[in-house]
Amino acid sequence: MIGKGLAGVRTWQCAVLCLGLVSGIATQAAADCPGHPDALGTSRTLVVDPREHLRIGTMQYAETLPLEDHEVVLTFDDGPLGHNSKQVLEILAAQCVKATFFAIGRMAKENPEGVRKLRDAGHSIGTHSQNHPLTFNKMPAEQAKKEIDDGIASVTAALGDSTAPAPFFRIPGLLRAGGVEQYLESKGIQTWSADFPADDWRRISSSRVYELAINRLEAKGKGILLLHDIQARTVAALPRILHELKARGYRIVHVVPASPELPATPTEPQQWQLHPPSENVAISHWPKIPNFVFAATAPLPAPALSDSYWHDDWPIPVAGTSDRGKRRGVPLPLQAPWPRQAPPLPERAAIALPAPSASVFQMQDRLRFALTRAPRSAEPAIAAGPRRVADGAKPAGAGASPRAVAGKPNLGRVHRASASHAARHATQAGGRPPKRLVQVKKRNV
Ligand SMILES: [Zn+2]
Repeated sequence: MIGKGLAGVRTWQCAVLCLGLVSGIATQAAADCPGHPDALGTSRTLVVDPREHLRIGTMQYAETLPLEDHEVVLTFDDGPLGHNSKQVLEILAAQCVKATFFAIGRMAKENPEGVRKLRDAGHSIGTHSQNHPLTFNKMPAEQAKKEIDDGIASVTAALGDSTAPAPFFRIPGLLRAGGVEQYLESKGIQTWSADFPADDWRRISSSRVYELAINRLEAKGKGILLLHDIQARTVAALPRILHELKARGYRIVHVVPASPELPATPTEPQQWQLHPPSENVAISHWPKIPNFVFAATAPLPAPALSDSYWHDDWPIPVAGTSDRGKRRGVPLPLQAPWPRQAPPLPERAAIALPAPSASVFQMQDRLRFALTRAPRSAEPAIAAGPRRVADGAKPAGAGASPRAVAGKPNLGRVHRASASHAARHATQAGGRPPKRLVQVKKRNV
């Protein structure tokens, strides 16, 4: 599955060893940078096994390189290209910084010397496809495979000493696709995204590239920085970036692939997360819901009538007629609990109801007195209500006003007179005016 990839790792690693760059694998302090006592330097070399962690870079994936806080990995894409790539190499050399370059196959064919300079300087060399098409997310699988394979072949040819590039691949434009990642996995190649870019491919100033690189690094505290060695603005920003990294206490980590001769740096799985949870913080890790795998999904046969427990033809167990309940110790009811039978009503039940007492219909003396002493002139109005009066009927004996004669009876005057009259008599009889009576009459108007 990964034979070709492993072969590449071995030859790549052999080239490193033969070139006497083993010292680069050990920790290289800034003090080891000849002629540059204030150099940033490369703090350590991280050896990774691509087969254990196939995709890295939190811009797109769950995992990233197992870096400590304030550790940075520098990566440069799309080269090598003449003057700019050469200047980037010189800047890095002045700081004794080791980086990872993702070379394009076509660029390697046009500038093989530039690829060899990368190798001679001790940098890691990954690949970035043959022609850098920005269609990896939708191109046919065979075309993607050819782009990947041709790019590796071109860089290998540029190296010219049977060594192969590192099994690191960055998809052009980070346009990832599942099929591409699976193909890379089958070849034992690690897919590199990044943790933060500096947007140096955009038409922005070198100062802006510097700001984005530093600010985004500060936001994450560590990670993989994506740059392009073919851009003039990157060349202009790089010295300031490296100087600021040192000033802020960041350290450069050089990444190389593992091989049978060079085992991977021991790491814990959580170290491959950008911000792994601290084990000093209590977190509940509840077991996940098990994913049940059913042995068979065929539907069960429908139950037959003979399978049911209740049968209509079964005799209803009644206490005393069956010993089934007794034998099982279950007390059986004397009667079926449902439906309940209501007791029959006695004949002529209405007669049995109590007759209302005569006191229910008694009228209080004050009220009876007030009604019986009300003047006759008010009675027709009270009894007939407003409707008869409104019809124009003249109350018998009433002192009709001129308006009543003209068809508009003065109702308020008639009732006020009768109400005040009744109230006066009631006050004389009981000492208190019958307020209820006055209210009743007003309501009838
Ligand atoms: Zn690119």
